[in-house]
Order: sequence, then structure tokens, then C-alpha cells
Amino acid sequence: MDSERNINKFHVIEIPKVFKTFISEEYFRNCITCDKYLLDDETEYVIEKVIRDGYVELEYSMCMDCVEKMRLKMSKESMERVNQYFEKNFNFYDRRYDLLSSQSSDIDDYISSCLFKNKSIHELEEYQLLGHCRGDKMLLSVFPYMVSKDAIEEVQELLSAKTREELDDFTDKHFGLPPDLKEIIRSKRPVFL
Ligand SMILES: [Zn+2]
Repeated sequence: MDSERNINKFHVIEIPKVFKTFISEEYFRNCITCDKYLLDDETEYVIEKVIRDGYVELEYSMCMDCVEKMRLKMSKESMERVNQYFEKNFNFYDRRYDLLSSQSSDIDDYISSCLFKNKSIHELEEYQLLGHCRGDKMLLSVFPYMVSKDAIEEVQELLSAKTREELDDFTDKHFGLPPDLKEIIRSKRPVFL
């Protein structure tokens, strides 16, 4: 019983440097979509970063209300396919059990290999990092995790045209970029939240 209870309980750590802002190494403070202040004790949010060649290409934080709205914008078809991909390629229970039963608070244990592929962060040129926070703390569950570019591309392929459009709107709106860069960023749609 104890172990089951532990699995359902979040472990909490200080937000590690890799999940702070790239340039100033500070906490993310506001939701990218609604601007909600995130550092109140009870406010939950996610952080996503895209890393390429050692540099942060894109990073943002988003409150849970906006994450939920984003999910609802995904077509039913896309959502089902992405869910199937998760089910087929990743065992949530094992991961949570392994990490939480070892009580690891070491961020590297969570992000050092791809959630879906057997690839080490050290051999990847490009990957995404996802984290789940509450106020100025990070919650450990299936989050945080790392997704390799190969897996990102596989999931992108599963999205319907409608969902791609919605996500393009998101990147266009929040990352005002020149057209050539926009094409690059558009391939980093937030589908792993
Ligand atoms: Zn928001």
C-alpha cells in the first residue's frame, strides 16, 4: 500500500537550472498565452524547451488552463493517434514506478534518455524538454522528460491537417519570427504536454 501511495504522490524539487530561462537563468514567470503569473504557490504550469546543438531554440511556460484549451483544439483523430503512440511506445506506469520507487530527485535520471526511443541526450543534436511545475517548485511524476527529434517527427506525422493548423497558429502568434525560421519552429509544435 505504501508504495502505491508513493506513486500517486508528487515528489517536489527546486526547479533545476535546465528548466529556468536560458539567458537569465530565472524562473519562468508568466503563461505565454494568457500572461497569468505562475509563481504563486498553487499555480501549476508546464515548461517546454527545444534544444538544438546545445542552444535553446525555443522556450516557454504555459498555465494548465491554457494547456487544457490547447488540448481541446486538437482534433479527436489527432488526439487518438497521439494517445495510441504513447501507449505503444511508452509505459507510464513502469517509468513512474522506477523513478519514484528509487526516489530519485536527480533531474538527469528523468531527462537523460528519450521517453520513447532508446537514445541518450548526449548523442542527440535536437530534443525537447518538458517539465511540470507548481509555483517555484518542480513536480516529479512522468514529468520531467525528454523527447528526441526522431520521436517528435513521428508524432508530428500523426497529426491531422486541422490540428497542424491550430498549432501553426500557436507558433505564429507567440513566436514572431522571420519566415525561414518560422518553418523550423513550426515543426516543434507542442504536442507532448
Ligand atoms: Zn495561461
